[in-house]
Amino acid sequence: MTKRDVIVIGGGIAGLAAAHHIAATSGDRCNVRVIEASSRLGGKLDSVTLHGRTVDSSADGTLGRRPELMALLNELGHGDKTMPIAASGASVFVRGALRNLPKDLQLGIPTRWWSLAQSKTISKRGLLRALLDLVAPRSVGRGHLPDRAIGSLVERKLGLEVVNSLVDPMLGGIVAGRVSDLSAQALMPSLLAAAQKPGGLMKALRELAPTPETQVPPAFLSVEGGMYRLIELLTASLDSLGVACIVDTHVTGLHRQAGSDPAWMVDTQHSTYRADWVIVATPATEAAALCAPFDSELAEQLAAISYASVATITLCFPDHGITLPECGTGVLIPPASAIPRGPRKGQRFLTTAVTFLDRKWPLLLQPGSRWIRASIGRIDDERFTHMTDDEIIAMVREELTIVFGATEAPFAASVTRWSKALPQYGVNHQAKIDNIANAVARHRDIALAGSYLEGVGVPACIASGRRAAAIAIRESTEV
Ligand SMILES: Cc1cc2nc3c(=O)[nH]c(=O)nc-3n(C[C@H](O)[C@H](O)[C@H](O)COP(=O)(O)OP(=O)(O)OC[C@H]3O[C@@H](n4cnc5c(N)ncnc54)[C@H](O)[C@@H]3O)c2cc1C
Repeated sequence: MTKRDVIVIGGGIAGLAAAHHIAATSGDRCNVRVIEASSRLGGKLDSVTLHGRTVDSSADGTLGRRPELMALLNELGHGDKTMPIAASGASVFVRGALRNLPKDLQLGIPTRWWSLAQSKTISKRGLLRALLDLVAPRSVGRGHLPDRAIGSLVERKLGLEVVNSLVDPMLGGIVAGRVSDLSAQALMPSLLAAAQKPGGLMKALRELAPTPETQVPPAFLSVEGGMYRLIELLTASLDSLGVACIVDTHVTGLHRQAGSDPAWMVDTQHSTYRADWVIVATPATEAAALCAPFDSELAEQLAAISYASVATITLCFPDHGITLPECGTGVLIPPASAIPRGPRKGQRFLTTAVTFLDRKWPLLLQPGSRWIRASIGRIDDERFTHMTDDEIIAMVREELTIVFGATEAPFAASVTRWSKALPQYGVNHQAKIDNIANAVARHRDIALAGSYLEGVGVPACIASGRRAAAIAIRESTEV
């Protein structure tokens, strides 16, 4: 049997997971290559080394209840190489102060009024509005809702203050979006289901929550040493399986070979590769450019997915250089929380969240220092893209002082920019993805993978890569 040539375009986690699945399971039937535009593999998974430590500069862990990361680590022979998160809880900077998030939140949505009241995260007026959910719950309309914005559903049931103070910073923060635009169906289907039940939202969410028996602990985990280690493990395994990973090579075009051979021709700035099968594992914007020459409708659908640009600022402070809350994994800063004092009083914070890295991952604990990370940037806030790294660090430090009190100068600080990084799962996202899948199915020997398809988190990206790989294996062996 002649070997089929498979090319994976894009060496992020989705592309690498796809390449690995094919190489590990198709036996001798496929010859796999990964072509990556940048100088390194891993895409949006990377690390930064400062003050003698290497730490994640993007994802630093992921949801434990999705099985795909564990399945991949098991395949790589490193199923024992995970680390559970070591802290829980978080705070939110609202009404001019740091306050513990209410207990019993589901992705930022309160499920018990009393916990919400105790947290003091929203005003008395906001609490009274949320109380309506218990005493006079509002309906979201009759009949089945195909989709609705998360923000409007929660606002209708619990009021705008709950949306602004809790749901937008938490659920919106995950994808650097605004919940006024994000899809309940795609990001929190349980909310869509709960909102349509008669009665209160909080009660319905509690009833739909998984019972402790069905939850898989730990809730959040990472790969031993850091999420970036996953790329090192995958790359080593791909190498041993004979997969060529070609970096610094931008795929500039994708078209069918003329004549009797229907193979794909994959143009790069250096040369053209022939492939029987291609998996396009780039962000949707780049996939649109590659698909445009052979399917303008598909290209348009892909181009319609928007992306938020973000940046992370990793800071190593002297131990007593910053006073963090006594417990918790970090702080959320809602877009609606204005700076309460100082020269920028009334303006929007640049910082959207602060993560206490060495509390979450004790492996990072280092006597005399504190590792924290600030996140900046949202779909509606690209101010940082016009700022230098030094300006960003100065502004973030100023904001940390407002949130935590006085801070000393950090030992080290580093900015990592992630341009157009997080796809926005807007209202009716699932319908858009179904249309894209139907359009792709019109073509032979091509599949898509990536964070815009099945979820933004690392396990969902692995799932999309493996799904594309499974199609390639199945269809390659049918010929
Ligand atoms: C700051 C940040 C924090 C995050 N935090 C978390 C978290 O805590 N937990 C979690 O689970 N997830 C998190 N995520 C999300 C997760 O990291 C990403 O969704 C995921 O890594 C995306 O993988 P991907 O393979 O789909 O895409 P990418 O990583 O974007 O990979 C696509 C690759 O394609 C390449 N490419 C593009 N065009 C071409 C071309 N024409 N030719 C060749 N190559 C091309 C790109 O260079 C890139 O390497 C975070 C993301 C960011 C940015």
